[in-house]
Amino acid sequence: MNLRTALQLPRGTLQLPAFLPDATLGVVRNVDSVDLEQCGIQAVVMNTFHLMQRPGSSTITALGGLHSMAGWPHPIITDSGGFQAYSLIRQNGKYGYMNDKGITFQPEGSDRKFHLTPEKSIQLQVSYGADILVCLDDCTHVDDPFETQQESVGRTIAWARRCKDEFQNLMRQKRLPPEKRPLLFGVIQGGGFHELRKQCADALLDMGFDGFGYGGWPLDGKGNLLVDIVRYTRELVPPELPMHALGIGHPANVVDCARMGYDIFDSAMPTRDARHFRLYTFTGADGLSAPGSDEKWFTYLYVNDDKVIKNEGPISPYCDCLCCKRYSVAYLHHLYKINDGLFLRLATIHNLRFMAQLTERLRAEQHERADDAPVGPAS
Ligand SMILES: [Zn+2]
Repeated sequence: MNLRTALQLPRGTLQLPAFLPDATLGVVRNVDSVDLEQCGIQAVVMNTFHLMQRPGSSTITALGGLHSMAGWPHPIITDSGGFQAYSLIRQNGKYGYMNDKGITFQPEGSDRKFHLTPEKSIQLQVSYGADILVCLDDCTHVDDPFETQQESVGRTIAWARRCKDEFQNLMRQKRLPPEKRPLLFGVIQGGGFHELRKQCADALLDMGFDGFGYGGWPLDGKGNLLVDIVRYTRELVPPELPMHALGIGHPANVVDCARMGYDIFDSAMPTRDARHFRLYTFTGADGLSAPGSDEKWFTYLYVNDDKVIKNEGPISPYCDCLCCKRYSVAYLHHLYKINDGLFLRLATIHNLRFMAQLTERLRAEQHERADDAPVGPAS
């Protein structure tokens, strides 16, 4: 039985499972907050690594936090910044380094050095006003050897302790009523090694977090979901605690992971695909094909294809997004051809509505078997 039908957050209830688009720099590219609301998007993920650089933390604080800055009154999850800092350094060691204290980096073209420690990451996320904060973790590549993964797990556990301590200090100072307290998620690392995933999960469960994230890249070199380790990691966490499949957003992977018990998904994929002319549609005569484990229940429409030049119909007659209710595929193709910005907005709206509809269907499927008991913050 799924006990996690919803999460109560300072800025509202997040119905689970939920797909969150990435608003990396404080915006989901090409759409505004009203567009997101109308797509049925409940929350977004914003990125500490990028926001601390632009517009910068003092500016965000001066603007009253991320919700006020972005005109988005609904929940925001901030990530810790660890994954992007790790990716930058992995790309080229000249951009920075990582040690037990934290991560130091200087992106190309930046005249500033940035330091990200577990404490700093939490301070930033609290000052940004996030509804769910994520602990700074030590990321690895899925192909890294056992020793590297072991070291990462040790550091991830140590950093999680420091993150939790800092979080508790800040919460004591703020004296927030329970319903206004944000949640803190720990991240489970360990690469493809079962024993390391278990060691990490057990240590983090002992510390106590409001929820957990699957750490590390969840796909193999061919882009296939690492089903075995992703499922195993979910099973390490009690079912009543919510779990975020960080970075997972391919529709088929969302379905698979939701059925494994993951609750929150975020990815730039649906919005990026929209910008690259790849639009998602449910298949089936009534547009109501049941999401399954293979990809046949949805398909792609390539709106840049000359074959659609006179297609008078909508992307999907069963989609209720602004794009499908009002405009033809042919018109969308024309907007693309003349390079009009409206193409990007409408295509993005459609793919986001598809993801929202997908999670609505998964929710209906799960709620048939679940109690309606929302999960609040842990004490
Ligand atoms: Zn649509």
